[in-house]
Amino acid sequence: MNIAHGYRVPFQRRGSVVGEADLAALASVVNSGEPLSAGLWRERFEHRFKELIGARHALTVTSGTVALELAVRLLDLGPGDEVIATPQTFQATIQPLLNHDVTVRFCDVDMNTLNMDPDVLESLITERTRAIILVHYGGCPAEMGRIMEHARRNGIVVIEDCAHALGSHYHGVSPGALGDIGCFSFHSTKNITTLGEGGMITLNRSDWADRVDRLRGNEVDAVYVPTGPGVGAEPPLLPWMKFSADVYRHAVADIRGAGTNATMSEPAAAVGLVQLEALNGFTERRRWIAQRLDQAMSAFPGVRLQRTPEQSRHAYHLYTVFITAGAAIRERFVRSLDRLGVEVQLRYFPLHLVPEWRLRGHRPGECPVAERIWFEEHVNLPCHPGLTDDQVDYLVTAVTDALEQAYGASADGRGRLVAP
Ligand SMILES: *Cc1c(COP(=O)(O)O)cnc(C)c1O
Repeated sequence: MNIAHGYRVPFQRRGSVVGEADLAALASVVNSGEPLSAGLWRERFEHRFKELIGARHALTVTSGTVALELAVRLLDLGPGDEVIATPQTFQATIQPLLNHDVTVRFCDVDMNTLNMDPDVLESLITERTRAIILVHYGGCPAEMGRIMEHARRNGIVVIEDCAHALGSHYHGVSPGALGDIGCFSFHSTKNITTLGEGGMITLNRSDWADRVDRLRGNEVDAVYVPTGPGVGAEPPLLPWMKFSADVYRHAVADIRGAGTNATMSEPAAAVGLVQLEALNGFTERRRWIAQRLDQAMSAFPGVRLQRTPEQSRHAYHLYTVFITAGAAIRERFVRSLDRLGVEVQLRYFPLHLVPEWRLRGHRPGECPVAERIWFEEHVNLPCHPGLTDDQVDYLVTAVTDALEQAYGASADGRGRLVAP
């Protein structure tokens, strides 16, 4: 199966394993005769999720991208507003900002974690800064203590893109409960999946949760204010109705825009619930593979391993290693691995350099660390629970072989590798 895909060790076609328990849950929902949308499974999944994360509210949506879009909409950003964002992430993290006429300031990253550097962040804050959008890169928690300190002191909202972060901790707290708004993805490649697509928003503010609920539930994004004598005094006609008809007819409404339909189906939510139970096992497997890779490469000169910050738990959505001997050696390493059937990635091309952001005035040199890392140093190796023990053994051998091939030209002649 993996051979047919072309690689003996594929990178990450699936980030989690869909097994018997998931299929049983799926069959029971589909065969239950109950509606397949907006029912009890969605509520159960949301309830369990918010408990696990430690946030007051959790709302399912159809994808991580939609979660981020709704998060940005909640802030009513407009011309003159500034947002500080990381360039080292998947484009969906900041793509919603293209629809809002805001100024984006890209914050360079820490060379170890590839997360937003809090010192750079501080230097980018102005009186116009409304929001910070960050990612916990690869499942390694960002330095939220200092980031939240800067944010709170300056009245800035923090959106956490937690697409990689499920299963990680920062000082015992889960991402999604560290900032103001957490956005999760259950895409096929992520740490758990709700049958290929899905997402979740976590928040603590109830008024924001109500608004997200309206936005995803096909309601107009509006607040109705009953006016006039007796308006709203009548009870709604039927139990499921929110208002009596006179509210709609006579109320003044603050209409901010259209809602959409972006909620999760019942079968997807039921599978999500089963996946959550398996999450810890998936994370432990990722951490074990990461440890084997660390051990295999720790003796090589010119290889820098990623260190997990103190009091954090890395979820290893991505395993990242740095080749510090220059772009040519990194290229040889990547090519060797590819020849050996190990699929590697370079995630992510710095976003300030892609056309849509360059056309808005962003330039090379804006984030020197993110640029150096992508163009010269980093490599993402396969690390996910879909890999068998045999594949992991092969991966570890292939990685050491590829390092030897990459450094071959500078070996000291006795089979020992030396830094060039
Ligand atoms: C996958 C991903 C998203 C988007 O999630 P989807 O569910 O695929 O829409 C956003 N941000 C990051 C960092 C991601 O990896």
